Amino acid sequence: MASESEVSNKQIIFKDYVVGFPKESDMEIRTSKILLKVPEDSTGILLKNLYLSCDPYMRSRMSKHDRPTYVTSFQPGSPITGYGVAKVVDSRHPNFKAGDLVWGMTGWEEYTLTTLTDLFFKIEHTDVPLSYYTGLLGMAGMTAYVGFYELGSPKKGDRVYVSAASGAVGQLVGQLAKLTGCYVVGSAGSKDKVDLLKNKFGFDEAFNYKEEEDLDAALRRYFPEGIDIYFENVGGKMLEAVLSNMRNNGRIPVCGMISQYNLVEPEGVHNLFNITTKRIRMEGFIVGDYYHLYPKYLEMILPHIREGKISYVEDVAEGLESAPSALIGLYSGRNVGKQLVVIAQE
Ligand code: NAP
Repeated sequence: MASESEVSNKQIIFKDYVVGFPKESDMEIRTSKILLKVPEDSTGILLKNLYLSCDPYMRSRMSKHDRPTYVTSFQPGSPITGYGVAKVVDSRHPNFKAGDLVWGMTGWEEYTLTTLTDLFFKIEHTDVPLSYYTGLLGMAGMTAYVGFYELGSPKKGDRVYVSAASGAVGQLVGQLAKLTGCYVVGSAGSKDKVDLLKNKFGFDEAFNYKEEEDLDAALRRYFPEGIDIYFENVGGKMLEAVLSNMRNNGRIPVCGMISQYNLVEPEGVHNLFNITTKRIRMEGFIVGDYYHLYPKYLEMILPHIREGKISYVEDVAEGLESAPSALIGLYSGRNVGKQLVVIAQE
């Protein structure tokens, strides 16, 4: 017999492992039931999900991996999981109480019961838009901060190049570079995105990489004296063109390589010896290793947001049903700014 507090729970189910580009049909909607109470023998929390974040790394979770990697694969037949913002509905964990707002690793569903409380941060600052905790004040923001400052070692006057520059991470990297007194150029895949880079985020220059026949020549045009920091988001041919244009002692924080995520056979990069001859420091990182810096990041970024010195563009899809399409849109550049999905009001 259904209990009084049992409600229906719409979910986005991962159907099966993906090879090549993901499709909406790799996911399906299912409705199940959930009790709006944490079981008595649990120390978990029950969440009402408000915003879901669509992130490029989720493609890796759709693959079956034959050796351990930095993420676990989604379980076929189970809900997709990812970063999100949620409200605690019930709690048997001492650190959380009903009514708390949190961001962290939740389910693509209306309600999530979880014991993985270590994967959540409590939201203390609510004078800024709550949706920012899917991006600017969440994982993507931390990624920009860590990659740029910890690995990029920027100094005033550095020449900085950012690929996928209008996205969740890139738009912030460009603005951090400007705050540091750097010259910054971004690339993106449409005229509208290029306009945003120049007119909204304050990049010194920006170009549409899809309209450039020769990426090497394009970079030479914007960096006649070479690049000090390349914030790497895309990989492939862009990385090859960048390596030819780096300056001695340049830094390349390797944040991601989205152009490679859906390829069955990744592309090769043919001029890696530049790393030696130009003494380049090229270093990969995973943001999850740096969350101990989150309080420091908030202390730095919140005043900038409040003073209007940092802007953030979000691409908001409406309703859980729109989540699969929003997610796959990342891999063709359909999103303009941080892609998120709003699924409920507080
Ligand atoms: P995003 O930029 O908001 O969205 C993805 C963008 O990538 C698309 O809008 C598209 O922009 C571009 N893109 C898609 N396919 C491409 C291709 N074949 N070639 C070139 N560009 C392509 O995503 P994000 O969240 O800010 O992530 C940016 C990068 O950071 C990704 O590589 C992601 O994996 C990485 N990341 C790494 C970490 C970490 O811990 N290391 C954490 C977060 C994100 P255009 O229209 O401009 O092509």
